Amino acid sequence: MPSDTAQSRLADIHARIDRAARMAGREPGDVALIAISKTHEADSIRPLIDAGQRLFGENRVQEAAAKWPELRAEYPDIRLHLVGQLQSNKAREAVDLFDAIHSVDRPSLIAALAKAMAESGRRPDCFIQVNIGDEPQKGGVAVMELPALLDAARAAGLPVVGLMAVPPIGVDSAPYFALLAKLAREAGLSELSIGMSDDFETAVTLGATHVRVGTALFGTRA
Ligand SMILES: *Cc1c(COP(=O)(O)O)cnc(C)c1O
Repeated sequence: MPSDTAQSRLADIHARIDRAARMAGREPGDVALIAISKTHEADSIRPLIDAGQRLFGENRVQEAAAKWPELRAEYPDIRLHLVGQLQSNKAREAVDLFDAIHSVDRPSLIAALAKAMAESGRRPDCFIQVNIGDEPQKGGVAVMELPALLDAARAAGLPVVGLMAVPPIGVDSAPYFALLAKLAREAGLSELSIGMSDDFETAVTLGATHVRVGTALFGTRA
């Protein structure tokens, strides 16, 4: 049993991603591991950076703005993705801070992001978040409304690269992942942001290009 370090946890996740990818006839290098560092302080993040991780995800603009600029000044090759819901009035801050936004889910946010990108000159990759389990409390566009929202995002000039979803808790994620993959194919989108600590291997076998892993890398959140 290797000792439980950031390095060993990272190696374990990579080994599991590689195995799942090979099983599905995919290249492991086609799956990006996003380390979800929400709620964790810089001191907990550094060991993972030292172990070689460079791609991180946060779910709140405010929290990311407080902790990442300093770390990024030290490690300029770090990339930061926003995976949580975004208020339109924080669009400019998000565009300035993040390299990708996984939670584009409504026309007002599309407009705010388009304006922010025009003002800042930055163009973070955009994922449309789909409410794949049709859950009222969750963010994401309804499956039926996806084509119209995608048209609106493209018309506004957003760099839309893929779809993102968080399936319902406590049930098998596979059918939801498969549905999202089908929707992405139909929309001509190549990127799929699916899979968290409990189901990232399933996500990889079903086409994930980005898995979002927090607990399995950092331990449980307070
Ligand atoms: C917190 C979070 C994750 C990571 O969840 P874990 O179960 O800790 O791996 C992934 N995606 C989103 C959108 C999150 O908010």
